[in-house]
Amino acid sequence: MNSCEPIEVFYNVRTDLDKLQYVAHILKIVEDITNENDTSYNILQLLLNTIYTISETEMNKDLVTAIFKLRLMSIIGFTPNVTECVNCKTKEDLNYFSIKDSGLKCKICAKQDKSVISISDATLYAIKYIIMSPAKKLFSFNVSESSIEELKLISKVYMEEKLEKSYKFEKIVYTN
Ligand SMILES: [Zn+2]
Repeated sequence: MNSCEPIEVFYNVRTDLDKLQYVAHILKIVEDITNENDTSYNILQLLLNTIYTISETEMNKDLVTAIFKLRLMSIIGFTPNVTECVNCKTKEDLNYFSIKDSGLKCKICAKQDKSVISISDATLYAIKYIIMSPAKKLFSFNVSESSIEELKLISKVYMEEKLEKSYKFEKIVYTN
């Protein structure tokens, strides 16, 4: 992205209320986090890339927001373990995400954990990608609607658990 053209870059956010409300949601989260942490380069880079993607592309905004939340948690020190079962260390059948234990779990270990959310293989690969991809490639993938729903749920619950705070997505209501 070309950081020398800020007005043009975010033009669509100013003309599209739907996009604007996603950006407002993201800014609220970043505002809270930067009140308690130093605003690192990584947070700023993530914020700008997220707003850019919402503004200038037609990528699903729920997916963009889910990617943002998971990556943000990783940046501020809550990186989930996405390479093995957080409990028994197996690398097989990791189709569960544990909110409580911050990472993937296998089917057997998931049975003992009420905080797990079951995920499809596509969602599993997406979560790994979100945590491990280079910043510049973060938003360059797509998944099905059902995976987006899983990512949306995990990113919301995981972030709210780690930040010990809940966020309402404020819908802008049109009135005549
Ligand atoms: Zn296990």
